[in-house]
Amino acid sequence: MPNISEFIGPKPDEENVKNLEQIIGLKPCSKCDIDVDEYFWDPVNYIMTWTCDNGHLTTVRINT
Ligand SMILES: [Zn+2]
Repeated sequence: MPNISEFIGPKPDEENVKNLEQIIGLKPCSKCDIDVDEYFWDPVNYIMTWTCDNGHLTTVRINT
């Protein structure tokens, strides 16, 4: 019998990713010297995120 609670939990991340716009633009990693040439823009929460080749996630919230 499947565990139904698995499907009614918190929203999965994939659901949020669908709302993100992929934008071409150079962004510097906040933890190392690698530049990333594209980032994701969340128009709902005004958050930009990008991940460098080392797997560092940088998140910037835009104040409006
Ligand atoms: Zn990095």
